[in-house]
Amino acid sequence: MRRVDLGRVEPFVRRLADSQPGRALRKQLSRHPPAQSGGLLVRCPVCGQCADEFIAFGGGTIKRANALCANCGALERHRLVWLYLLNETDLFSGVVRRRMLHVAPEPVLEQRLRDEPLLDYLSADLDAGAAQEQMDITDIRYPDDSFDVIYCSHVFEHVPDDALAMRELCRVLRPEGWAILQVPILLEHTDEDPTLTDPEERLRRFAQRDHVRAYGADYADRLRAAGFTVREDPYAERIGPVRSRRYGLDAADVVHFCTKRTHHRPTDRRVIVPGPGNGTER
Ligand SMILES: [Zn+2]
Repeated sequence: MRRVDLGRVEPFVRRLADSQPGRALRKQLSRHPPAQSGGLLVRCPVCGQCADEFIAFGGGTIKRANALCANCGALERHRLVWLYLLNETDLFSGVVRRRMLHVAPEPVLEQRLRDEPLLDYLSADLDAGAAQEQMDITDIRYPDDSFDVIYCSHVFEHVPDDALAMRELCRVLRPEGWAILQVPILLEHTDEDPTLTDPEERLRRFAQRDHVRAYGADYADRLRAAGFTVREDPYAERIGPVRSRRYGLDAADVVHFCTKRTHHRPTDRRVIVPGPGNGTER
């Protein structure tokens, strides 16, 4: 039987997949990328675009090579989370309707999530107009157990009382729900100083002028202290160097997959946590 070169047909299939009836096909393409694609070396899992490399990107004078997708704007961390959502969670299973809270939504992911027919999607941001709803995550105006899924990435490092923000997100997460809570991890131990307000000093110490701390490897402990059970998943490393390079991931990036710790419940309510044993890449 003649083998089809998926790399050659992918652009045509993708054009079809961009049509409304092709949504399911588009998902399939995202989950089953071709091993080769016309000789191009990288592939954005968010939009499917292939290229020789991603574009260099970064604040200040230091730019990261191979970082930004020229087609959709996805960075390493967006591609990592998108792959994780696709392959390690059942968010797109199309079986169960879920209520999702997306904090400080990245445009590259927001529209795609809004388009999911079985997601009751809500984006929220401290700045009115930056999302569907204005929200201070240290004072969330929703009852306990309101959301099945929470995604909040690169936000806590801007929040003076991050412990309160974490407790609030834990409070509004349903007991059976899960959250992906990401921050840049730069140090061995978290460095913070609430009295430090000089932007240049913050840039020097916390890597950005509007950061109030730099997180360390103890970040997961801070989430645990807020009431989460945390699985630190070295997903970029776990999928192997070939795929990691192909998708332009930062091999050091870890996905923080969090569930709500429920002290008062007996252990008969098992929470399925994805991992190498039960969350193989589809
Ligand atoms: Zn892209």
